Amino acid sequence: MRTVGGRTDNVVVVGAGLSGLSAALHLAGRGRRVTVVERGSHPGGRVGRADLSGYRIDTGPTVLTMPDILDETFAAVGESTADRLELIRVDPAYRASFADGSSLHVHSDAATMAAEIERFAGRAEADGYLRLRSWLARLYQLEFDGFIASNFDSPLSLLTPQLAKLAAIGGFRRWEPMVRRFITDERLLRVFTFQALYAGVPPNRALAAYAVIAYMDTVSGVYFPRGGMRALPDAMAAAAADAGVEFRYDATVTELERTGSRVTAVRTDTGERFPADAVVLTTELPDTYRMLGRTPRRPLRLRPAPSAVVAHIGCRATDPAADAAHHTILFGGEWDRTFEQIIDEGRTMSDPSLLVTRPTAGDPTLAPDGRDLLYVLAPAPNTAVSDKDWDADRDAYTAQMLDTVTTRLPHLGADAEVLHVVTPQDWARQGMLAGTPFALAHTFGQTGPFRPGNRVRGIDNAILAGSSTVPGVGIPTAIVSGRLAADRISSNSMMGART
Ligand SMILES: Cc1cc2nc3c(=O)[nH]c(=O)nc-3n(C[C@H](O)[C@H](O)[C@H](O)COP(=O)(O)OP(=O)(O)OC[C@H]3O[C@@H](n4cnc5c(N)ncnc54)[C@H](O)[C@@H]3O)c2cc1C
Repeated sequence: MRTVGGRTDNVVVVGAGLSGLSAALHLAGRGRRVTVVERGSHPGGRVGRADLSGYRIDTGPTVLTMPDILDETFAAVGESTADRLELIRVDPAYRASFADGSSLHVHSDAATMAAEIERFAGRAEADGYLRLRSWLARLYQLEFDGFIASNFDSPLSLLTPQLAKLAAIGGFRRWEPMVRRFITDERLLRVFTFQALYAGVPPNRALAAYAVIAYMDTVSGVYFPRGGMRALPDAMAAAAADAGVEFRYDATVTELERTGSRVTAVRTDTGERFPADAVVLTTELPDTYRMLGRTPRRPLRLRPAPSAVVAHIGCRATDPAADAAHHTILFGGEWDRTFEQIIDEGRTMSDPSLLVTRPTAGDPTLAPDGRDLLYVLAPAPNTAVSDKDWDADRDAYTAQMLDTVTTRLPHLGADAEVLHVVTPQDWARQGMLAGTPFALAHTFGQTGPFRPGNRVRGIDNAILAGSSTVPGVGIPTAIVSGRLAADRISSNSMMGART
C-alpha cells in the first residue's frame, strides 16, 4: 500500500463528520498530533441535529449498523464504545408494511426471523431465507476485510483469489436476481433488496456485492444510541479530544497552502493558518478538487445518488399497545416504477415508499412529555435530474407524506405538528453535490477501484475520506474511510512501532 512519505507528525483533518473523526482517532492513537477544522459549531456533519420546540431531532442517519466498527475506532485510542455510548439494540430492526395490508417484523436472530417468515409466507420461504442468510454472510466475509476495509493502489491489486471467490458466489451479478434464487415472495424480496437505494442504484441494476448492506441491516442488526444519533459523533469527538486531538469549530477551510507537491498548511475564513505535514480532506469532492487546484479525471461522468425529503413531525405519543416499531418501511404498491421515477425520470414517487422512524421508541426523552417524534424519509430525485421547485412545493409534499403515514399507520401521527423539513434544494444549499446527501451512487463505474480514490494524483500528502471516496456512503463506510485515510498516513505496521 502506498503511504505518505516524509514527515507526518502534524496532521490537519478537514471536517468533523464521521470520517474525519474516525481519521482523527486512528491518527491520534498512532501518535500523530491532530487538529480537526470544522465549519460547523459541533461534530457530526451529516449526522445532523436540530433542537426545536422541545424536540431533539436527528436530521441525518437513523439506521446504525455494524457496531464492531465503532469498537475498532474507539479502541484506536484505548477506549471502548461502552465507555462513551449506550447502544440500544433495535428489535425488530424494522417493521415492513406492505400495500396489501400485510406486515412483517425483521429480526436479526435467525430462528426468530425464520419463524416470522414462516408465519408470513410459508415454510418454503423460511427455508429460502435461511439459505439467503448464509449467502449474505458469505458475501460479507469475502468482502469486508478483502475489499471494503482495505486500501488498493490499482485495480490490478484487486485481482486476488478472494475476488474469484466473490465472483463464484455471484457478487458481480445483479442484486435482485441473486435474491430471487432464494426467495420468491415479492414482498420478502423487497425486504432484502430495498437497501439498494442506500447505494443509490435500483435493486435490479445494483451489483449483488452490495447485498452486503442487507447483511448489515438484517443479519448483523440495527442499533440506536441513547440520546439520538447525535450521541455518536459527540462520543467520538470527546474520545478524540481526550486523546489530545485539537478541535477548531466555526472555521471554514478556504485554501490549502502548497509547496511543490505537498500541502504545507490549511487556511480558514477566520484568518487562521494551521501548518500541516499531511492533511485528510472530508470535504465535498468539487470543494476538495478546487482547494487542491486539481481537475478530476472524469468530472462530468460522476453520477450522484438520488436524494431524499426528510420531514420531522411531532405528534401525540403512540398508545403503547399499538405495534409501533422504531423503524417502519412503508412499501408502496409500485416498485421498479418507483426507482425509474426518482433515478431516471427525475420525478417524485407516484406511489411512495417511505422510511418512518420513531426515535422516541428508543429514547422517549427526545420529545416533550406525552409526545412522539417521527422522522419520515421519502426518496426523491436529485437536482441533477430534477429542477422541481421544492421551496414552492415543500408544504404540499410534506402534507402528502404525512397523509400516507397516517393512512397506512393509523396509530401514528395524531395531533401532528410539522417541525422541520429538508428537501433536495436544502441539501444543495448546504453545498452537497446535486442536492443529495448520499454522495455518489454506487454504480459499477463508481465502485471499488473505479470510485474516486483516497489518494490525489500529483499531491503527496493529501488523503481523502468520506462518502464520496472509498469505500462509500453510510455510517460504517464513512468510519472505515477515516481509518483507510489514517492507514495511508501511518500504516498499521508503523502503529506498533509508535505506540
Ligand atoms: C438524511 C440522511 C439519512 C441517512 N441515513 C443513513 C442511515 O440510516 N444509515 C447510514 O449508515 N447512513 C445514512 N446516511 C449517510 C451517512 O450519514 C453519511 O454517509 C456519513 O455521515 C457521511 O460522513 P462523512 O464524514 O463522509 O461526511 P460529512 O458528515 O458530510 O462530514 C464532512 C464534514 O466536513 C465539514 N466541512 C465541509 N467542508 C468544509 C470546509 N471547507 N471547512 C471545514 N469543514 C468543512 C462539514 O461541515 C462536515 O461536518 C444518511 C445521511 C443523511 C443526510
